[in-house]
Amino acid sequence: MKDCNQCGKCCIKYSDGALSATKEEIDLWEIFNPDIFDFVKDGEIWFDPKSGLRLKRCPFLELSPKKDPLAPNIYTCSIYLDRPEDCRHYPSLIAEMIRDECEMIEVVDLDKPKQAQIKLDLLMKDSRPPSS
Ligand code: SF4
Ligand code: SF4
Repeated sequence: MKDCNQCGKCCIKYSDGALSATKEEIDLWEIFNPDIFDFVKDGEIWFDPKSGLRLKRCPFLELSPKKDPLAPNIYTCSIYLDRPEDCRHYPSLIAEMIRDECEMIEVVDLDKPKQAQIKLDLLMKDSRPPSS
């Protein structure tokens, strides 16, 4: 199990309607982070504030500038400290990481998924509760 390399696949895959925010998170954004709240509509994320249409990609996902055009893309979250719990909880299960082609997975993790889950839960201990 490697550290997250910020490949952005998870944000790109899930941010077009598969992510949610709690009412508490939305209420806090409304008071303290109106720039985030602008992208909420009827309790759901993420919507274009002007058109009201659901966005295909999270508006806070940013591609880092790179010196070498052949280097892999590296993404950052511009609201990292204020991102929804839903984002904080990924990745939670080895099976979903394999399905999503998460780049934290190593060959050894495929051979030993139970040990991989334990390593993952340790890596994620500051972001979410253990998976079981
Ligand atoms: S809020 Fe941040 S972590 Fe969540 S989808 Fe957007 S860029 Fe990714
Ligand atoms: S898919 Fe995996 S490696 Fe890529 S950004 Fe998401 S958690 Fe990190």
